[in-house]
Amino acid sequence: MAPSPSRLFAEISTAERPGGARVVMRRAVVLGASMAGLLAARVLSDHAEEVLIIERDPTVPGSAIGSSEIDNEPRPGVPQGTQVHGLLPAGQIQLDRWFPGFTAEAVAAGAVFPDPGTVRIHLNGTLRPSPPPMGGNSALVSTRPFLEALIRRRTLAIGNITLVTGQVKGIDLSSTRVTGVRYTPTGSEEVVTEAADLVVDGMGRSSKLGDWLEGAGWSAPELKRMPIKLNYATALFRRDPAISDTSVVVAQTTAGKGRVARMGGINAVEGDRWIMLIAGYGGDRPSRDFDDFKTRCRRDFPQVFGDIAERAERLGEVITYHQADSRRREFHRLSRLPGGLVAAGDAVASFNPVYGQGMTSAMLHASCLSAHLRSGASPTEPARGYFDRVRVVVDAAWQISTQADLELPHVDGPYPRGYRITSWLSDLLFAASSKDLELNARLNAVTTMVEHPLSLARPSTLLRAVRATLLR
Ligand SMILES: Cc1cc2nc3c(=O)[nH]c(=O)nc-3n(C[C@H](O)[C@H](O)[C@H](O)COP(=O)(O)OP(=O)(O)OC[C@H]3O[C@@H](n4cnc5c(N)ncnc54)[C@H](O)[C@@H]3O)c2cc1C
Repeated sequence: MAPSPSRLFAEISTAERPGGARVVMRRAVVLGASMAGLLAARVLSDHAEEVLIIERDPTVPGSAIGSSEIDNEPRPGVPQGTQVHGLLPAGQIQLDRWFPGFTAEAVAAGAVFPDPGTVRIHLNGTLRPSPPPMGGNSALVSTRPFLEALIRRRTLAIGNITLVTGQVKGIDLSSTRVTGVRYTPTGSEEVVTEAADLVVDGMGRSSKLGDWLEGAGWSAPELKRMPIKLNYATALFRRDPAISDTSVVVAQTTAGKGRVARMGGINAVEGDRWIMLIAGYGGDRPSRDFDDFKTRCRRDFPQVFGDIAERAERLGEVITYHQADSRRREFHRLSRLPGGLVAAGDAVASFNPVYGQGMTSAMLHASCLSAHLRSGASPTEPARGYFDRVRVVVDAAWQISTQADLELPHVDGPYPRGYRITSWLSDLLFAASSKDLELNARLNAVTTMVEHPLSLARPSTLLRAVRATLLR
């Protein structure tokens, strides 16, 4: 009997250090050196004699650490890097699993480990109980470029991993499998071919892999979209204890009677700064104008947003970002899949960022790759076992984020089977968890991707939720 999604999810999200590295291929080539590509390269370094990463942006390993000026320099290949990025506990567990001592190193380099008393979650204007600390600590908080630079430094310190810069132009395929990658090295016009036993697409949500497959006579994975029309605006401020002790604030308003869906976030990050985000949907679009930013902070969010915007020293401009949709590519449904080809991170699925699932999903995909290769699968055969595991991770994240997004007035589907009942159950759990700390902990474990959503369907949890609601 096939293992249940919850059991597979528990295996994938394990904190246990991977043992039994087995070299099964000569060379793996990874496309893109962001979250998905770097973590995949780390996993592949256990199984390939040589791992080559091809990234179009010039990156200097470790250069971003310790310098606040460079830390916040977004790179063109990851334009969303200017915006608030929260790492979920499940992602942090994977970072410590693949790079032992990662958390301690990040904190030593300036990342913030929030004191649970300074973490505040507001839902529809009400302060919720603080999330339970993870293993005695909260999850790590930093800017996105800072976190990525640390991961890059650890990855490139591994002896059999090399990074080259250049633009990937396509893949070479035989009648059964991928055989190589074509790319133009930076500063050259020449197209170079790199032979590969296994290729990982880590090129993000706009990856051209589907087009390349179709161009070579294969099918592209079906692309599913949910239009969310999300508008972000983010600004950095100098941290000032005289204004607030805040290290993390999440303020969410869901769509409903008399309520407009919005999201706000504040993170205390390296360099003694706050990064603050305000977001709306559809026509509710914060601009780059700082007066508009301040007005919205004061009018639409808890007091601390207005206090920081009006009183703290602003560092740089307000930067906006629009994301039109959440999307997923259904690789697991392809009836013909070339051997030796894997996609990871946003190249498989990218979600509404307000739920903070993207980087953690990429890290869990790396864990799927490890489980697949450690199961004895041949790297040059179609990676069905990998995509079946990835599907479990994508389904879990998709369910959490789209369930909430289907409440948005401008989102009209696609509705999953059983939507009404899951929607009723999640409303019940959310309401009950604001009063019952144990339920809050169980719900939090799911929204932070530590547990599979099915864990909330246990009769003991549901009974507890009903009891808490009746007592209320
Ligand atoms: C506004 C916003 C806020 C977000 N907030 C959060 C958050 O709070 N928490 C969270 O976990 N996630 C968040 N995310 C999601 C997160 O940014 C992504 O999930 C994550 O970056 C995915 O990593 P990736 O490696 O798959 O892709 P990407 O980070 O998109 O990287 C793709 C890489 O591929 C390279 N590349 C692309 N094409 C080529 C080519 N042809 N040749 C060579 N290289 C190429 C790019 O340069 C880049 O380095 C947010 C996203 C947005 C848009």
